[in-house]
Amino acid sequence: MPPATTRFAPSPTGLLHLGHAHAALFAARAVAGGRFLLRLEDIDASRCRPAFAAAVLEDLAWLGLRWEQPVRVQSEHFAEYAAVLAGLAARGLLYPCFCTRAEIAASASAPHGPEGALYPGTCRGLSLAAREEKMAAGLPHALRLDMAAALRAVPQPLWFEEMGEGRLRCDPAAFGDVVLARKDTPASYHLCVCHDDSVQGVTLVTRGEDLKPATQLHRLLQELCGWPQPAYAHHGLLLGADGKRLAKRDQAPTLRALREAGRTPAEVRALAGFPD
Ligand code: GLU
Repeated sequence: MPPATTRFAPSPTGLLHLGHAHAALFAARAVAGGRFLLRLEDIDASRCRPAFAAAVLEDLAWLGLRWEQPVRVQSEHFAEYAAVLAGLAARGLLYPCFCTRAEIAASASAPHGPEGALYPGTCRGLSLAAREEKMAAGLPHALRLDMAAALRAVPQPLWFEEMGEGRLRCDPAAFGDVVLARKDTPASYHLCVCHDDSVQGVTLVTRGEDLKPATQLHRLLQELCGWPQPAYAHHGLLLGADGKRLAKRDQAPTLRALREAGRTPAEVRALAGFPD
């Protein structure tokens, strides 16, 4: 078997904190002797900043991590995501959705999926003429996956290999007609992450267990697009002293602050759950 390839894929929306250090070290240690790649998931231009991207590289290097070049920067690849979306649209698997958040929230009876209220399908039933009229009027729209059509297009059942757990069955239908291109961002996290794992040759996806449900949808996208199936290792999230998940919004200590307070990389690795 060739050595495994994994990646750490932060979004440069702030400075890295101990939770990120845990995820990065988990990835690098999972493929010790294999390939460790880095990807900046910066498709959301309203939240990502170049200064944070530069800080990610600096802080990870300070922590003692080394990765293969080049670093993949998602915002440099919008044309590739657009080509994937065009391919899915040509197969009748996508439709434009003109609904506002408020309209979707107002359909309060909507059942819930892993990512909140399921889209009630309003725009799925629009006639071609109605769609063209709204497009011509320049109404902002997202692109949604027609889940029922997508499920008909792939062999069932879908499953993924979770390290230490074996094969887990997927139920992508629980996500409903997910958004694959947002009104304000030309491609969604789900699409970009699966596309890039394929392009980068990732064979082991490591990430926090908060993203484990999304893997069910990712397996569907991989099958639809003919991308290889990686193995998965979802890790527990580092908790703060209050027992709550470390997150930027809770003012988790950043790697930068720890470094400036005189902590050594080895001490910070230990704080992140990976003592040498
Ligand atoms: N960019 C995602 C994050 O910041 C991680 C995506 C992934 O590892 O699949 O949490």
